[in-house]
Amino acid sequence: MTDERATSTAAPAGPTGKAGASVSGGGSVAAPGGSVAAPGGSVAAPGGSVGGGASGASGDPGGVASAGAGASVGPGRGDSGDPAAEQAARIQQLVTEIETEIGEAPLDVVAEIEGDAVPSIEGLAGGRQAAEENARVEAAVRQILVEIGEDPDRPGLRGTPERVHRMYAELTAGYRVDPDRLVNGAIFPVDYSEMVVVKDIPFYSLCEHHLLPFFGTAGVAYIPKGRVIGLSKIPRIVEMYARRLQVQERLTQQIADFLMERLEPKGVGVVIEATHLCAVMRGVRKPGTVMTTAAVLGLFRSNDKTRAEFFAHLERRPPAP
Ligand code: ZN
Repeated sequence: MTDERATSTAAPAGPTGKAGASVSGGGSVAAPGGSVAAPGGSVAAPGGSVGGGASGASGDPGGVASAGAGASVGPGRGDSGDPAAEQAARIQQLVTEIETEIGEAPLDVVAEIEGDAVPSIEGLAGGRQAAEENARVEAAVRQILVEIGEDPDRPGLRGTPERVHRMYAELTAGYRVDPDRLVNGAIFPVDYSEMVVVKDIPFYSLCEHHLLPFFGTAGVAYIPKGRVIGLSKIPRIVEMYARRLQVQERLTQQIADFLMERLEPKGVGVVIEATHLCAVMRGVRKPGTVMTTAAVLGLFRSNDKTRAEFFAHLERRPPAP
């Protein structure tokens, strides 16, 4: 593998307060794929055309954004009273939102889904098997409550197993995102060979060691070799990998590898800064500690100047509104 990871721990400067992805580029270019509805953030084009703003947005990249986003699948959506089917519909909607632009019609084809084997969405969608799976997860959560000395039957906890089950399904919806659908038609031939940088992309993920959140921002850059990807797709790629059980190093690498594979650019750089609740809430208890990881491929790896330019872009904060 061609990975190069520099993992370091930097001081405070928590990720809070910089919601909203922003973009800077080496020159001006019409934003390919123009219209931008990045999850949890907005993207400005390299030339500064597409209005950014809205950084007050909660910064929840998972924010279930509005209607339009591919009216969803799932049998008996909402009206069946079948919780398993409702859950499946909710997850499918999330997945569709990551895969498609607002207003863009989702594809019909359900292609092979990348990543580790996970139960298909159909598996979640009702049926006795699904009901049994739900029951198992919920029984397990209930058992945790008992083990920590709680009374799972007291009113506040009665719905907790079901809520926790639902939450984990949503927070790991990235396993079900189909990268082909995500990229769908958003790679364009362009005669542009300067660095494209999308930074301050907010994300939330779950540490696979503790199932606790880690969250922060990602900065992604590449140097095109005849092809570019729609700017709004980059936050979605981050989202696809963040909504899984992760370690920060792998998340960083997967984003870089994905762009390298799909775009075959001259190089890719990804830097992620994140706060890990498993470090903050327990153990070292140093609130504000931010971990930084980087993955650099191609020119970003071989050329010091390119790498320096990338990091300089990341340093540059957007002007205050
Ligand atoms: Zn952890």
